[in-house]
Amino acid sequence: MIDLDKRSITYLSGVGPKKAEILKKEADISSFEDLLYYFPYKYIDRSRFYKVAEVNDTTAFIQLKGRILSFETVGEGRSKRLIARFTDGTGIIELVWFQGINYAKDKHIVGKEYIVFGKPTEFGHSYNIVHPDIDPVEQAGQVAGGLTPYYNTTEKMKKAFLNSRAIQNLQYTLLNLLKWELSETIPTDVLEKTRLISRTEAINNIHFPQSADKLKNAQLRLKFEELFFIQLNILQTAAYRKKKLKGLTFATVGDAFNTFYKKHLPFELTDAQKRVIREIRADMGSGRQMNRLLQGDVGSGKTLVALLSMLLAIDNTYQACMMAPTEILANQHYATVMDFLGDMDVKVALLTGSTKKKERDKLLPAIASGEIDIVIGTHALIEETVVFSSLGLAIVDEQHRFGVEQRAQLWRKNTTIPHVLVMTATPIPRTLAMTLYGDLDVSVIDQLPPGRKPILTLHRYDNKKKELYEFLRKEIRLGRQVYVVYPLIEGSEKLDYKNLEEGFEVFKEVFSEYNVCMVHGRMKALEKDTEMQKFISGEAQILMATTVIEVGVNVPNASVMVIESAERFGLSQLHQLRGRVGRGAEQSYCILVSSYKLSKDTRKRLEIMVNTNNGFEIAEADLRLRGHGDLEGTRQSGMGIDLKIANLAADGQILQYARDIAQQILDEDPDLSHTSHLLLKERLNALFSRKINWGMIS
Ligand code: ADP
Ligand code: MG
Repeated sequence: MIDLDKRSITYLSGVGPKKAEILKKEADISSFEDLLYYFPYKYIDRSRFYKVAEVNDTTAFIQLKGRILSFETVGEGRSKRLIARFTDGTGIIELVWFQGINYAKDKHIVGKEYIVFGKPTEFGHSYNIVHPDIDPVEQAGQVAGGLTPYYNTTEKMKKAFLNSRAIQNLQYTLLNLLKWELSETIPTDVLEKTRLISRTEAINNIHFPQSADKLKNAQLRLKFEELFFIQLNILQTAAYRKKKLKGLTFATVGDAFNTFYKKHLPFELTDAQKRVIREIRADMGSGRQMNRLLQGDVGSGKTLVALLSMLLAIDNTYQACMMAPTEILANQHYATVMDFLGDMDVKVALLTGSTKKKERDKLLPAIASGEIDIVIGTHALIEETVVFSSLGLAIVDEQHRFGVEQRAQLWRKNTTIPHVLVMTATPIPRTLAMTLYGDLDVSVIDQLPPGRKPILTLHRYDNKKKELYEFLRKEIRLGRQVYVVYPLIEGSEKLDYKNLEEGFEVFKEVFSEYNVCMVHGRMKALEKDTEMQKFISGEAQILMATTVIEVGVNVPNASVMVIESAERFGLSQLHQLRGRVGRGAEQSYCILVSSYKLSKDTRKRLEIMVNTNNGFEIAEADLRLRGHGDLEGTRQSGMGIDLKIANLAADGQILQYARDIAQQILDEDPDLSHTSHLLLKERLNALFSRKINWGMIS
């Protein structure tokens, strides 16, 4: 039997080197298996023929049977187009081509009977179909009469004649070559228990559905398969880590921790913070390596938990480090930690990209000798030159900005595996957490420090700027500070900076009696710092910025967050931004400014923001509205949950089921060494061997 995963797509007839390259680049298809697992994103029922006379503005995709009466080329330059008049005897509809005009004209013959498929649009007093699919009536058996799959294709693919239809043809060629038979990946007893259809039947029907029912079963089977192997992998990794990976045992709670706790802690910890510290202490004292995700909404006090954990490491004669995603944040963490520690005898160093060479040359040996207890920094921490004498705990803040590889590097630089604490303010819905972090233990700070008033969120249209300025002036007079944030969208950066800079000029004029400062990603680190410092020190009342302040900055006196073009932000991002205020005792406000014209989804997003402050609710809504593929943080997370068919927002139940079954199998056979599990093991290896297994890096 052909090893589908290893057989290059170039072995398929119809795929030359050029097409192979485009398939690889555009659709990540390089093997037979990749092609078979390139699933249609929709199906259209082509069992019915419409009449031209029936077409109205509510008809979606339709197919017609009839003849072309004539061709005509009209327009010039970009509006040049080919128009074919098409009829089935009940009326006339126009078929239109803007591209491939010559090809379309040559290929289709006037008077011959065709099947035309496409979406009619109203045009003046009649309808037309732009770029229709056209097939000779003789091929009706192939194209019409059932559910027709549609595959995602890009412009580049289409240009290389790899449109949806062509992909379907490739699937046909391949399945034919395989004699429509595939080897099974799921053990027989699981198939029996779950009553799922075979892999062969599923793959055949996903590309060539025999009926709506069979298609549904095929989707179910393939979703299960996808989630099942992910869960099997995660659960096995977790079990392995728990059993085999020895961790440093932090047995003592010593001077550093106790002194700080008793003498330096400026306030009582919240119950949630206390619980989380207990969880972390138990974990680090257990003798196995800690791999813990700390979730806590913005402002819930994660930094303090991080500091207490680092003090535990120090009490056990180890060093600790904390890595932040930006310099501003690293600086702020450093300042916070220094402030908290006061006169305690703990040596803390700051290491970022802008640490001067002279300073670095002093720091690196001190880190290597163990003289320094805590290192706080950015990516600079994972450079090879940074060597610890005994790193016992690595903390990664706001993890969604880091790829998994970077995290792995943090503890690769040590002879022993340090404990790892990953902190995030991005609330992760349960289904997603199970998929992304199923091998991490999770702690949640589900409580904000006392005395905080809930942030009041308002939605205002951008033609009401005067009222907005009035409101801001009132707040500033009360001694508060204001953030004004502009979106930064990939691809339109030039325009975005222009918006910010223009806004800056306006604000400077409107608020001429106050100081306005500005921060954005294009500034040099030093410049950014100076501007930021103006705001932190209170010298400036208004800080205008792109999203660089999204993560972690803490200025308790800032009580108003204005978000310009709020419609261009995702929900989680809006929530993160909002979390920058509401840190002091004052009433805080978040003002979402948008244009008047909003899509339904966007209006919904803004409504959700106005209605709730709860990060988890927002994350769930985000997942529902956008699907997991777009959920912020998952794509950059490097965890590669590139799901091909399952949808975490909709398939939570299948996920849970797949997880339960995977757990049952591992309970009986942790190493998958039974003969009946051999195939399972092979499949698992094939699926995940390319990815780095960071739970096991030593
Ligand atoms: P985040 O979880 O977003 O990182 P921070 O650690 O920055 O939150 O904490 C937000 C603010 O709350 C800081 O000013 C911090 O000093 C303060 N804080 C943390 N814990 C408490 C507490 N138990 N009581 C009062 N204030 C606290
Ligand atoms: Mg923080």
